[in-house]
Amino acid sequence: MGRPAWCRECRHEIAWATLIPSGKAVPLDVSPDPELGIYHRRFITDSTGRRTSTVVQLSGHDLTEARDRARRYPADRESRLWVPHFATCSARRPHPTETTR
Ligand SMILES: [Zn+2]
Repeated sequence: MGRPAWCRECRHEIAWATLIPSGKAVPLDVSPDPELGIYHRRFITDSTGRRTSTVVQLSGHDLTEARDRARRYPADRESRLWVPHFATCSARRPHPTETTR
């Protein structure tokens, strides 16, 4: 895992990951969520032993299947779905599902 990080807007803890294949850095919520998550996460170790957190975005049918798997096997780390912090950041805009929880 990388160094601890916090969202500058809402002060919520976040984790940085590298989006594959674009290489863009994306902030993630620190807890996976099978309903809101859109990313599969992998840790890649390079030749110097450095671990990088990477994510791949899922969509369409792949995302539907991944959600199903994440709900059924919450203990399976590989199946977890990670949420882009943009989706839940309270400082940006209130999430529509937040009030119904
Ligand atoms: Zn935030």
